[in-house]
Amino acid sequence: MRKAIYPGSFDPVTTGHIDVIQRATRLYDQIVIGVAKTPPKKPFFSLEERVDFLVSSFVNQDKVLVETLEGLAVEFAKKHQAEIIVRGLRAVSDFEHEFQMAQLNRKLDPDIETVFIIASPNSAYLSSSIVKEIAQYKGSVKGLVPPKVEEGLKKKFGFSYS
Ligand code: ADP
Repeated sequence: MRKAIYPGSFDPVTTGHIDVIQRATRLYDQIVIGVAKTPPKKPFFSLEERVDFLVSSFVNQDKVLVETLEGLAVEFAKKHQAEIIVRGLRAVSDFEHEFQMAQLNRKLDPDIETVFIIASPNSAYLSSSIVKEIAQYKGSVKGLVPPKVEEGLKKKFGFSYS
């Protein structure tokens, strides 16, 4: 059984993340999504909301498991008997941070490999922050996020899309 973890903030999950997860399920038997309890930036959505958005995006998909992540990704991987950390790469701007993280995780545990999935052209421009920015100004995020996230953004910003 080949297991991989996919750690991140998912604040909130976008169709870009979903694309990475779905493509990763073709490579591995199980993907354990690790939703960071305390991401580097103060999250907009609570941990419960971020987890719930992911859980409702993957109902009936037994290859995908959603868990909360506190602490180091390598420890989370070991806890789930996973040898792979999946991350997504959009543009060169992602590279520096991802390179550093991958090297650091390798230093922490050389038995765990980081594997990068290159963003699909139709979601390479997507990020959780851009989605929040659009919603903040009442723009439509339809198709950029799962329907439940769209609802969640509407609720938070107190409006409904036409
Ligand atoms: P983090 O705070 O750990 O960067 P994110 O939720 O922002 O968490 O992202 C998790 C991972 O998903 C990162 O590797 C990021 O590069 C990747 N990612 C984010 N958005 C996309 C996208 N649209 N396409 C592909 N990968 C993405």
